[in-house]
Amino acid sequence: MDEREQPALTCFDTREHWRCPILGGPVHFSYCRAMNGGLPCHRVLGCWNGKLDIQTYLQDHFTPEQLDRVFSQPAPGRMGTIFEALRRVREQNPHQE
Ligand code: SF4
Repeated sequence: MDEREQPALTCFDTREHWRCPILGGPVHFSYCRAMNGGLPCHRVLGCWNGKLDIQTYLQDHFTPEQLDRVFSQPAPGRMGTIFEALRRVREQNPHQE
C-alpha cells in the first residue's frame, strides 16, 4: 500500500492555465479535471505537464478505466465543447432561462 499522502481532488482547482487551446482563454484546473462529463479533458496531460504532477494526480483520483475512457475517446469538436460548456452552465444555474 502506498503510504504517500494523497492530495484532495480539488487541491489544484485554483491554478490557472493562461490559454486553453479549446476555449481560447484562461481556465482553472477545476474546469480541466471535470469538463468531460465529470472526467478530465483529454488534453490535460499536455496542458498541465510541468505545472503540477499531473500524472500522479490522475492516478490518485481516477480509475484506469476512467483514464482509458478519457485518453482513448476521439477528441470532441469545437461545437461539442461549446455544447458541453452550455450544459454545465445550465446545470449550475438551473433557474435561469
Ligand atoms: S486541459 Fe483541456 S480544458 Fe484544460 S486548458 Fe487544456 S485543453 Fe483546455
